[in-house]
Amino acid sequence: MYTPDFLPAPAIDFAAAGGVDLDRLERSLGLQGARVGSGRYLVTGGAQEHWVDLYTARIPRCDCGDHLWRERICKHILAALLREGHEQVVRALGSLADRWRPAARGAGPGAYGPGRVRGVMTDR
Ligand SMILES: [Zn+2]
Repeated sequence: MYTPDFLPAPAIDFAAAGGVDLDRLERSLGLQGARVGSGRYLVTGGAQEHWVDLYTARIPRCDCGDHLWRERICKHILAALLREGHEQVVRALGSLADRWRPAARGAGPGAYGPGRVRGVMTDR
């Protein structure tokens, strides 16, 4: 596993948070992020607007339920990290692109097949 010589800011333990969630990352691409300060973003385009703060705490923060309750790196934080050019999140876009290629989807209809209901219960 690649170990960086230094911890880039913001320090995010993606391993502890379950990695870059590609479903959330894909949803984050449809959001708008307005930079309102150093590492601070107002993220809009979802069901609600959310404030993201990447730097003033030990870990990035967002005021959405996905982050506060599930302790996940939510799509709003991912949207902010993309705009900061965060290495791991940018590289995850490659994995996302792989999923968009039909040959790479593998078994069955998967995430894009019929029967999958998206965004009904939560604003993840
Ligand atoms: Zn959030």
